[in-house]
Amino acid sequence: MGHAQRAFRPSSTSKTAFRLRRLTLPQKPWSSVSTLVRELREGRGTELGRSVVLTFDDGFRGQFVHAYPILRRHRLPATVFVVSGYVGRYSFYRHLGLEGFPRTDGTTPPLAWLPLSWDEVKEMRRHGVEIGSHSMSHRSLGLLPENEADFEARRSRQILEARLDAPVELFSYPFGSRAFGDFDWNLEEMLREMGYGGACTTVIGRCAPETDPYALPRIPMEDADSLFRVRCKLSGAYDWVGRLESIWQRLLAREHRVDNGLPIGTGFLPG
Ligand SMILES: [Zn+2]
Repeated sequence: MGHAQRAFRPSSTSKTAFRLRRLTLPQKPWSSVSTLVRELREGRGTELGRSVVLTFDDGFRGQFVHAYPILRRHRLPATVFVVSGYVGRYSFYRHLGLEGFPRTDGTTPPLAWLPLSWDEVKEMRRHGVEIGSHSMSHRSLGLLPENEADFEARRSRQILEARLDAPVELFSYPFGSRAFGDFDWNLEEMLREMGYGGACTTVIGRCAPETDPYALPRIPMEDADSLFRVRCKLSGAYDWVGRLESIWQRLLAREHRVDNGLPIGTGFLPG
């Protein structure tokens, strides 16, 4: 079942630059996740207006090579959520399903899909990119025993704070779907108690003044997005997609997890 796979494969990384250039065209005020979270927590969500926040999950090298130069040139605020246990490793993320590297036929997946190095993470941070945690190992926290979920969130943050010598207050749930159980209210509460200020999901939608800062929805950008479609997405035309998606995911989750009696996570969480 390819949904999560497709959604999370960095197949679009090489086109990130192209899309970002498009994004810089509409005259939108830019903001950051930390600003967004602060305004939501202080009940000033109405001041969000129509600002746009850019986030990148997983921390791929391609994001450093293609997206970061444009972010820097245009002074665009952005947040990169890195998987602490993978930074600096010469191995592909397990959730990409690229096991068996190096391949026997001698080909390799694009190196842009490798995790960032610590130097790259630090370089981006020095130039204004916010760094958040995307767990230790990119497993769905909601499908882990409580102590392991705790470790994933706590340890990943400790490592980032030690490496960056700065506080880390943002989290992004691996896989990020509420309907598939990747996060829930208990996990939100756990992050809050740990001292995180907010967390991003992959639930499709835009933030509103009443949005829970520990369950921030987002809008995915696709390879095929034209400037017109980017504008549509930013103006709310895609919000219905999120509602449909969550209904679809609930049906799917039920089919795969209950009716078929498969172990939790089978089918959409490789590894
Ligand atoms: Zn991810």
